Amino acid sequence: MPAISPKTRLRDEATHAALAEVKRVYAELATRPVERQCVRRTECCQFKLTGLTPYLTKGEAVLAARAWRASGRTKLPSPTDGACPMLEPQSSRCLIYADRPFGCRTHFCAAAGGPLARREVVDLIRRLETVDAQLGGDGPHKLPSAVASALADLA
Ligand code: SF4
Repeated sequence: MPAISPKTRLRDEATHAALAEVKRVYAELATRPVERQCVRRTECCQFKLTGLTPYLTKGEAVLAARAWRASGRTKLPSPTDGACPMLEPQSSRCLIYADRPFGCRTHFCAAAGGPLARREVVDLIRRLETVDAQLGGDGPHKLPSAVASALADLA
C-alpha cells in the first residue's frame, strides 16, 4: 500500500472533522424543542410533485455521498418521475436516512409539522455554511447535483 502524503493526511483529517461537525449539527437539531414527527411518508422526497428540492451545503453532500457509497452503491440514478435519487422506488424508503441532509429534517412536510422557521435553526445553518467554506464549497446546491458532485469527488 503506498504511503499517504502529509498533505493528503491533513486533507483527510480536515474532511473528517468537517463531517463530524455536520453530524453534530444534525444531532443538535434533533434536540431542539420544536415538535417534529417524520414518519417517513416520503412525500417530501417527491421533488417534482412538491415543486421543492432541498439545497445542500458541501458537508451535507459529502456525508450523503459517503452514506450512498456505504450502502454499496456507486452511481446516482436519475429518476424520471422527479423523485429524490436516493429514494428507493420499490420500497419508497430513503436509502441514506440516518445521514439525510438538513433540509430533509427541517423542510416543508405538513404531516411532520411543517417547515421550521429559519430563526429557529439559523445558528445551525451558519455552522453548515462554515463547514461548506472549510471544504472549499461555493454555497448550497440542489440535492441531486450536490450529491452527484460529491460522489464524483470520492471516485
Ligand atoms: S435524502 Fe432521503 S429523506 Fe432526503 S429527499 Fe432524498 S430520499 Fe428523501
